[in-house]
Amino acid sequence: MSSPHDAASREARSLSYPHPGWQQAMREAITDVDTLCQRLDLPETYRADAHRAATLFGLRVPTGYVDRMRRGDVDDPLLRQVLPLDAETRNVPGFGLDAVGDMASAAGHGLLHKYHGRALLVTTGACAVHCRYCFRRYFDYAGQHAGGSNLRQALEHIAADTSISEVILSGGDPLSLTNERLSLIGTALDEMTHIMRIRLHTRTAVVLPERIDAGLLGWVAARRATVVIVVHVNHANELSPEVTRSLAALKDAGATLLNQAVLLAGVNDDEAALVDLSEALFAAGVLPYYIHLLDRVAGVHHFEVAEPDAVALMQAVAARLPGYLVPKLARELPGEPAKRVIGV
Ligand SMILES: *Cc1c(COP(=O)(O)O)cnc(C)c1O
Ligand code: SF4
Repeated sequence: MSSPHDAASREARSLSYPHPGWQQAMREAITDVDTLCQRLDLPETYRADAHRAATLFGLRVPTGYVDRMRRGDVDDPLLRQVLPLDAETRNVPGFGLDAVGDMASAAGHGLLHKYHGRALLVTTGACAVHCRYCFRRYFDYAGQHAGGSNLRQALEHIAADTSISEVILSGGDPLSLTNERLSLIGTALDEMTHIMRIRLHTRTAVVLPERIDAGLLGWVAARRATVVIVVHVNHANELSPEVTRSLAALKDAGATLLNQAVLLAGVNDDEAALVDLSEALFAAGVLPYYIHLLDRVAGVHHFEVAEPDAVALMQAVAARLPGYLVPKLARELPGEPAKRVIGV
C-alpha cells in the first residue's frame, strides 16, 4: 500500500519545474483547525466554532505565515485573517454573495473588463492562503477562470481590443500558477503591442515568499511590457525578513511594487498599525496604493469598519505621514467606471 508521503514525493518528482520548493510549501499549508490551534496554543473553546465556520470556506494557511503569529493570542492580527470564526456563520442584511458585481461583468472565459484600458484575467481559483474576509469566497471559479482552453479565448479577446493597455493577472492568486503557465501568458501579452503593462495582484508573495523563485524573477526580467506587482499586505508583522528579501528581488528584476490592503476591524483599524504598515512597506521598497473598505459579502461583517470611522482614521494617518505613504481609501461599487475613492 502506498502512503500519502509516497504519493507526494512522486508528484514532486514528476513536476517539470526544477525547483518544486514552493509547490511543496503550498501543499504543506495547514488546512486543519486542530493543527493550527495546537501549533499556536489556542484555547480549546475556539475549536468547535472554527470547525463549523471552516465548512463554509476552508481553512488554508502556509506554515511560514503561521510562524509570524504570536502563540496563545487569539487577537493576533495575522491569525485573525485566517482563523474561521463563529461570526462568519451569521446572516447579516446587506452582505450578499456577489458584492462587487463580478458575476455580472464576467465575459465567461475569465476576463473581467469593467474599467477603461484595463482588463482583469482571473487566471486561477487557487490561493496559497484563505483570507476570511475575501470577497471571492463565493466566486464561481469553476465557470469563470481562464484555465485550460478558456485562456486562448481570453487572450484572443485582449488581442482584438486595442483599447486595452494593461492586463491584470488576478485570481485567486496568479502566483499559484506555475512559471510555465505564466510564461505562456506573458509571452502572448508581450506579442500584443497595445499592451503596455502587465500587472499582478498577489498575496502569495507575502504569505509564501518561497514562491519568488529564480524562474519567476526571470519571468519579470524577460517581459517587454512593464511589470507592476501589487502585493497585498494588511499588517507590518506580515513583512518578515524572507518576504522583504523576496520583494527586493522582484524590484531588482524590474517590477514596480505597490501595495493594496483591506481595512479590517481587529486587524489594522488603528492609527499606529496603519502608520507602521506604510513605513514598513516603504522600507521594503513598496508604495502604498489602496486601502479598501471591505466588500460586503456574506460572512465577513465582523471585519467591517464603518465608512465615517474609516475616513477619520485615514485623516489621522495622513496627519502623520508624507503624502506618498498614505494609501487611497477606496470602495468598489458595482457598475461604476472606477474604484470609488473616499474622503480625501
Ligand atoms: C480593481 C480592478 C481593476 C483595477 O483598478 P485600478 O483602480 O486600476 O487598480 C481593474 N479591473 C477590475 C475588474 C477590477 O476589479
Ligand atoms: S489571497 Fe486574495 S483572493 Fe485569495 S483568499 Fe486571500 S484575499 Fe482572497
